[in-house]
Amino acid sequence: MTLASRPRSPHAHVWRSARGHHLFVVNGSRLFDVEAEQFAQLDAAISAGTEAAVLEQLGVGGTAFIDDQPPQVPVHALSLAVAQKCNLGCTYCYAQQGEFGGAARDMALETALQAVDLLVAATPPGGKFNLAFLGGEPLANRAVLRAATRHAAEAAAQRGVTPSFAITTNGTLLNSSDAEFFESHGFAVTISLDGRAEDHDRLRPFKGGRGSFDRIMTNVRPMLAGQIRMQVSARVTVTPDNLGLRPVLDDFIAQGFHSVGFSALLNAPNGQGEMQPDQLEVMLAELIQCGEEFERRTAAGHPYPFANMQNAMREISRGTHRPYPCGAGAGYFGVSAEGELAACHRFVGDDSGAMGTLATGVDPERQSRWLTERHVHRQTPCNACWARYLCGGGCHHEVLGRGRPACDFIRSWLHYCLEAYLRLGGAP
Ligand code: SF4
Ligand code: SF4
Repeated sequence: MTLASRPRSPHAHVWRSARGHHLFVVNGSRLFDVEAEQFAQLDAAISAGTEAAVLEQLGVGGTAFIDDQPPQVPVHALSLAVAQKCNLGCTYCYAQQGEFGGAARDMALETALQAVDLLVAATPPGGKFNLAFLGGEPLANRAVLRAATRHAAEAAAQRGVTPSFAITTNGTLLNSSDAEFFESHGFAVTISLDGRAEDHDRLRPFKGGRGSFDRIMTNVRPMLAGQIRMQVSARVTVTPDNLGLRPVLDDFIAQGFHSVGFSALLNAPNGQGEMQPDQLEVMLAELIQCGEEFERRTAAGHPYPFANMQNAMREISRGTHRPYPCGAGAGYFGVSAEGELAACHRFVGDDSGAMGTLATGVDPERQSRWLTERHVHRQTPCNACWARYLCGGGCHHEVLGRGRPACDFIRSWLHYCLEAYLRLGGAP
């Protein structure tokens, strides 16, 4: 897979499969089946460095969909670090046990309301915004979370905009009243779970060392049964200690999670648990096994909510092409307990992603510098990589902290997903 997905051209990715010959045009993320003759012509042109001209001849060249200019995007999503503290002691935590390297603290109500007001005011009538709660453990400051949500829902109704709400929680503090609250506001609830009980307990124990899995599942099971407006998903952070993915996926789907997704741990503040290239190869093989099951079930008309695959199929189908991996520092910001704005939730407390304050608003100079420097056209080796408009150049936090150790993994996964998309009868 790594060989088939290696970057040969900044303009095109071509490959053969049992189904025929395929072309992925980087500009605009367009996917085509091609005749064997055209494939041979493109393949030779890529080796000679003349493929741009051949793409023009084939009628799939044209003006670049993405220029070098940073986009002008209004603020449309904020995540509030309502509690910069946590009751777990996860071995690899990006927030350093929730405190982001400082003292444990809660966001004051007035700070949360100020953030909501900024978000609502930035959303044009008829538009949408997303308000997310992360921590630390956001349910450690439940009162502020709920007050901010209610305020956002009311202010949105007055302004004629549509709110959506999300929370990422460790699940240990969830109770039935939280479930009712999240259901009534249609929250997307993400539970951080690092596998089945044994793996999870090793990686995500309570601060005293006791396992947290049983407590979480006791809290979460009634919520799984009660999902109508809310969606309860599981997110697994993959480290060298929990590399077996397929049994976890099947288990969690059987429990009733709305979707289950896996993310490799690439950058931990203490370096602990970071994935190395050989472990990423194992993870890739595991993800592909899960993907193959997704293909089987989808072809048979049965849902199999494997989030990594669902997201990839959606992005390929839309022809997603973007100059960044995410909205961090563009339309999305993290807000610290003290009301500082950061490029995203992972940059809270980190000066490299500082973006102003709630009082003064987004700092235009910092934002402009961030978006200019982080543009995928300015990143090497991304500017020569065929996957750049699907990948966006990799999570800024991971890239700034550790560089790009996962490019073969990312490209190989995307290559597999392109093939799967074709097998499942997607375009062309
Ligand atoms: S980070 Fe993404 S776009 Fe950049 S080289 Fe790696 S795979 Fe390609
Ligand atoms: S920078 Fe990384 S952690 Fe932050 S929003 Fe983007 S992808 Fe997520």
